[in-house]
Amino acid sequence: MDLAALVRNVPDFPKPGIQFKDITPLLMNSQAFREIIDGWRERYADKHLDAIVGAEARGFVFGAPLAYAMGLPFVLIRKKGKLPADTFSVEFELEYGTASFEIHTDALNPGDRVVLVDDLLATGGTMAGMVKLVQQLKAEIVELAFVIELGFLDGRAQLKGVPIHTLIQYNSEDS
Ligand code: AMP
Repeated sequence: MDLAALVRNVPDFPKPGIQFKDITPLLMNSQAFREIIDGWRERYADKHLDAIVGAEARGFVFGAPLAYAMGLPFVLIRKKGKLPADTFSVEFELEYGTASFEIHTDALNPGDRVVLVDDLLATGGTMAGMVKLVQQLKAEIVELAFVIELGFLDGRAQLKGVPIHTLIQYNSEDS
């Protein structure tokens, strides 16, 4: 199935100069959504995972069904102030400015094998923050899984040493 055909380009959102990759048409196509989740389930079936980790908000959309399909726990990373129990925090770089993510201190055990999921890899700042939190809990990152990669922003440079898997790649800003 041509997943890329189901991603809508929205120019100048949320601000001038940004080409937003809108995944809502993809999510509204149940066959495409199923293909993504089932594909990842097969990819990780024999990897002896202990949990799937996703970040607010679109990471939840793909991470939670993957965890359900694999019969694994789903671990939430949320924006600062949203998780109710004891947390670890990390500040991470966005294209403009910084933001904070948190994870519950008891969300993973040392040595747990996990896959981190998000919808899109751009500059890599968001995922680098997620990686730091998961490493603070001493879990082992098996792979980072994204639906979309904006390769021209070189997010991989911020994520060295961790395997990365992406389904749809864009190699220029106007693609
Ligand atoms: P980054 O931290 O730069 O890798 O940005 C990744 C996060 O920002 C992902 O969670 C995306 O949902 C969102 N994002 C960044 N750039 C775009 C874009 N061009 N289109 C859609 N979402 C984006």
